[in-house]
Amino acid sequence: MDSLALEVEDLVMHFGPVRAVDGVTLRIRQGSVVALVGESGSGKSTVGRCIVRLLEPTGGTVRLAGADITHLNRRRLRPHRRDVSIVFQDPAGSLDPRLSVGDIVGEPLRLMRRKDISAKVSESLRRVGLRPEVAQRAPHELSGGQRQRVSIARALISEPRLLVADEPTSALDVSVQAAVLNLLADLQRDLGFACLFITHDLSAVEYLADEVAVMYLGQLVEQGPRARIFGSPAHPYTQALLSAAPVPDPAEQRARRPVLLGDDLPSAIDPPPGCRFHTRCPVAVDTCRTVVPERRTIGEGGHQVACHLVNDDGTGPDVRPVASQSQLLSPGREAP
Ligand code: SF4
Repeated sequence: MDSLALEVEDLVMHFGPVRAVDGVTLRIRQGSVVALVGESGSGKSTVGRCIVRLLEPTGGTVRLAGADITHLNRRRLRPHRRDVSIVFQDPAGSLDPRLSVGDIVGEPLRLMRRKDISAKVSESLRRVGLRPEVAQRAPHELSGGQRQRVSIARALISEPRLLVADEPTSALDVSVQAAVLNLLADLQRDLGFACLFITHDLSAVEYLADEVAVMYLGQLVEQGPRARIFGSPAHPYTQALLSAAPVPDPAEQRARRPVLLGDDLPSAIDPPPGCRFHTRCPVAVDTCRTVVPERRTIGEGGHQVACHLVNDDGTGPDVRPVASQSQLLSPGREAP
């Protein structure tokens, strides 16, 4: 079996009464990209923050390259810091405005007391498509896209095994989003780090991810290889998300019929009993309101789903209008 960069087992993160994350289990193989998708408020960014230990989980375990870091204190975490980095959504908020770009990018190495930091900063800036002279500048002198490149250079300078990219393009101008995504994809391929790509942008997922995990109200409802999730999504929530995702072809986009979920995401303070999705699910039955659906494997490649109505062979409800179902199977994508 391939070695694992990350193992998250039954992760729980509660903030007082708010059950932001409630039993998430996720593995990322060395060198592969897993996309964690879901609406805002689903808890996906909280999962990312637990993995890089900006938060100490309420329950469960987080293992980085086999080492349990779930409850390590600051001092004992230090040796593991180089194994994982995070890139945040908003580069303006995550870069210290009082420091030069060079100091920001080199900071992880300074904390590790490494030598030759300025040479490594230049190399890291070059890698993300910035000239080494940018090291002398202040973050506010750069554009949004350049600042996000600086964040990426900083995250990768310690050559981590795992990068958590938390909505890395959603605060950027649409015109630069594709360039930053391309950069991340190229770097991932060249450097071979594993990546947890947290996003609500399903078109980016299709382009970058090997596997997809779909989160709803603090829990994973479906996960599996990208082609399976896009080609034959089994969970009604995944089907609804995919039916609403924009497609590049304008004619196809006009013909799309998204599944309307109606109500907003319910509160994580008092999540619905049974299947948490039952208040919005178009095909919910009585059992859904009282019995929690277990996660089951329904196909090859570890495709798993938590829904009472999905059969063991993956067949089951399809809440998408017929037109949307066929549009998902555009050329080049694997049919179920
Ligand atoms: Fe819908 Fe029931 Fe499946 Fe939940 S378990 S997704 S409510 S059909």
